Amino acid sequence: MSAAGAWFARTSNVLTKAAFVNLLPPQLVDDTLPIEQARGLFARFVDQVEIENHNFCNRICWFCPNSFIDRRTQLRLMKDAVFEKIIGALAEIDYDGNLTWSRYHEALADHSVFDRIAAARQALPRATLVVISNGDYMDRSTLPQLESAGVDRLILDLYLPDGKERDQVARAKGLSQFCRRTGLNLEPSSKQGYVITGTRLKGTLEIPCYTKEGISTRGGLIEVPKLATYRRHAVCLAPVRHVVIDYNGCGMLCCQTRSDAPEHKDAIIGDLNWPGYGLFHMYRDLGAARRALLAPGEKTGACRSCDVRDDGPDKLARRDWIAAATAAVPGASNLVERIWRQRMRRRFV
Ligand code: SF4
Ligand code: SF4
Repeated sequence: MSAAGAWFARTSNVLTKAAFVNLLPPQLVDDTLPIEQARGLFARFVDQVEIENHNFCNRICWFCPNSFIDRRTQLRLMKDAVFEKIIGALAEIDYDGNLTWSRYHEALADHSVFDRIAAARQALPRATLVVISNGDYMDRSTLPQLESAGVDRLILDLYLPDGKERDQVARAKGLSQFCRRTGLNLEPSSKQGYVITGTRLKGTLEIPCYTKEGISTRGGLIEVPKLATYRRHAVCLAPVRHVVIDYNGCGMLCCQTRSDAPEHKDAIIGDLNWPGYGLFHMYRDLGAARRALLAPGEKTGACRSCDVRDDGPDKLARRDWIAAATAAVPGASNLVERIWRQRMRRRFV
């Protein structure tokens, strides 16, 4: 793309997002809403619910806070009561977005995940069930188990030793060992690394190659040069679209933050262990964070050095008087709904 073309694409994206954030309903930034209204907003705007089945991950990748926060000593499962609360709430609204087992755990490290996926499949026939895994626990029985549990999408990251990610010999060796162990058939794909063939679920595998310049600071936890120099001003739509629950029941600000990092204490929005407190309460309680993240100006806390999707507006971000004026325009709310469905609401493909 030419420089002019890139400028045009960037500007048009900022203007579209600026219009969009100013058209979002004011209730989204109100954390005192009745729960019925919070439920309705959740059903309209959330397209990604991300959870952990347990805390454990076997790896300590350098670009992940698991390299210095212990996730390897003990395996602690998400309590049944918390899991059931999440699935029950999603079933109430016949949720049709992604439900993803990911975050900072290795989902396939504990067999309980298969039963939980099956329970989610039964309760949420319209949801897209997604598992993201490093593949280390996969063997020849894993893919059939995922299929029969009802997974729609399997995303595998095959991690090679540091510095070997682009080495063709190391890549070929890693892939061949993985295929021998798992019995998976892989075909190269121009878009997504490799596609798993011969299965009814959609499965892909990539060999990630992260650099200090390219990775996220994970809400300020990872020591990379941009941590000292970058300050976020752009709006962030993550707490509008995403709901993230840790293995221990803590509802988090977004997928970049984690309840076991002391630096992210303020990013814990609620706790699903609290009696009478559920997913929609937590979505309502994200209202204050949304207010700050949709407004102009430098962002604070975990967001201060976060450059994830920072292609949105700053000066043209949401202002209360514009939002109030647009809310009074007939048809504005329907327009937001249409933009949301066409541009924002995406499933894993
Ligand atoms: S495998 Fe994933 S969750 Fe585990 S340490 Fe690496 S990046 Fe983090
Ligand atoms: S700016 Fe980054 S840390 Fe803050 S909510 Fe968005 S994704 Fe999360």
